[in-house]
Amino acid sequence: MVKDDCIFCKLAHGEIPSTTIYEDKDFRVYFDIAPATKGHCLIIPKEHYQDVFEIDAETAGKLFALATVVARGMKKVLKCDGMNIMQNNGTIAGQTVFHFHLHLIPRYDGDGVDFHYAPGEANMEELAMIAKEIRANI
Ligand code: AMP
Ligand code: ZN
Repeated sequence: MVKDDCIFCKLAHGEIPSTTIYEDKDFRVYFDIAPATKGHCLIIPKEHYQDVFEIDAETAGKLFALATVVARGMKKVLKCDGMNIMQNNGTIAGQTVFHFHLHLIPRYDGDGVDFHYAPGEANMEELAMIAKEIRANI
């Protein structure tokens, strides 16, 4: 499905321009227009899925398999020291474009990018209960 008012649907099908690294019938990989670091790119399915809650497991699996291949190519070319792979779902989580996308963010020593959060405390009893509930819902 293509969503009429979705910028990444348009981009997926070449209706708006992108600097594309790779494309096949199901996916497009292109550079982020406002990169966190040199080489920051996005992988999208050409079909419209809003987020991780909507994408099917098979498509998501293929997308991540592609990410591993692209990541290795990027590492070779960009000579980055590491890479963050990030995927935001919902406004609270930082999602701004509501078409599923995976960020590949090359990291370079001293690049100053900071994704850190203050570590919390785990409540083991509560987590054991939550684990049981989630297990019953997957
Ligand atoms: P997110 O905040 O996870 O939803 O990420 C959306 C990303 O899409 C941001 O990093 C934007 O810079 C990027 N972006 C938005 N429009 C375009 C575009 N036309 N071409 C490439 N990247 C884009
Ligand atoms: Zn879309």
